[in-house]
Amino acid sequence: MKVKVDERGYYGSFGGAYIPEMLYPNVEELRKNYEQITTDLDFRKQFESLLKDFVGRPTPLYFAERLSHQYGAKIYLKREDLCHTGAHKVNNTIGQILLAQRLGKKKIIAETGAGQHGVATATVCALMGIECIVYMGAIDMQRQKPNVERMRILGAEVRPAESGSKTLKDATNEAMRHWINNPKDTHYIIGSVVGPHPYPEMVARFQSVISEEIKKQLLEHEGREAPDYIMACVGGGSNAAGAFYHFYDNENVQLIAVEAAGLGNDTGESAATTVLGKPGVLHGSKTLLMQTEDGQVIEPYSISAGLDYPGIGPVHAHLFETGRAQFLSVTDEEAMKAGVEVSRLEGIIPAIETAHAFAALNQMNFNPEDVVVLNLSGRGDKDLETYIKWGKY
Ligand SMILES: *Cc1c(COP(=O)(O)O)cnc(C)c1O
Repeated sequence: MKVKVDERGYYGSFGGAYIPEMLYPNVEELRKNYEQITTDLDFRKQFESLLKDFVGRPTPLYFAERLSHQYGAKIYLKREDLCHTGAHKVNNTIGQILLAQRLGKKKIIAETGAGQHGVATATVCALMGIECIVYMGAIDMQRQKPNVERMRILGAEVRPAESGSKTLKDATNEAMRHWINNPKDTHYIIGSVVGPHPYPEMVARFQSVISEEIKKQLLEHEGREAPDYIMACVGGGSNAAGAFYHFYDNENVQLIAVEAAGLGNDTGESAATTVLGKPGVLHGSKTLLMQTEDGQVIEPYSISAGLDYPGIGPVHAHLFETGRAQFLSVTDEEAMKAGVEVSRLEGIIPAIETAHAFAALNQMNFNPEDVVVLNLSGRGDKDLETYIKWGKY
């Protein structure tokens, strides 16, 4: 099956650019230019050089011996937790800051929920000496103090969104408004494979370095480029899209996407979009999203801030609809247990987002010879508070 975006930004029936008229020039400028700019040799060189020396790529593909023994398969971990700033998000922000420079933009805006994307954005703005404004819900700012201060230390301005529920959705609205009012000099860095075309495809391509490296590294370890399974957690879906990207067309590779089921999919406190969602428009693209009968977005819930999103990127809606990827979901409790298990078996404390992917190992039926790559999207340092509050270790 070909998983390819079409001219108008659709993956099958999902995607597109559903934006207000006033945003059209900004998005159109990107759409017209991103492909040429990001495939230019000079751009590729600079991107690869920063990924190598600033981010620390290639990240290792690590054979997890004790975990493999536990689950009866050969399990490899793609170590995105070892990226500078502690997760995969920086791969994308590096790509977008280089693009913004080439578009002649002088300022960067971003929105952030828990603050991870805000920190990754503030980091690359500091690196390039570009002014950075991050919109964040006022309530999220209280909940995520350390990340607010990280952004400030890096020189970014963090602007509270005081409207609505004062969380991610409101921060996104404020960032959009800012962009509409400052179309010429500002680039808006979106942090996952969401938003209007061309963002989902652009972000996926920046993150596709993950699967590019997996191919080479697996060849060294196993004498073949493709694993039997690739597993990744899905919030918006950028780490999963990056890990799947170069395997979409190889049907021998089973793609496993793991969503957050919060307190359980039948409790009203979940973020498992493929279980609970219906087609609709969210943040500028047609996708699956959690909504009421009359189309109001339902507030998602997950213990993990990075998975607490009411939709998924359009490519994932397509992978789900076509059956190319299998979607599983995992509760808070299952994820927390898996996070502690991996810490003890492998000496790696994973981000709670990633712990969801690990917990899904319990739902798999592997053969002993199966080669599994699990994308370890981030490290658990940022989640220490949550581990402590949960307390069962
Ligand atoms: C943000 C984040 C995620 C979720 O975002 P995706 O776009 O779905 O990858 C997953 N893991 C970590 C560590 C994150 O910081």
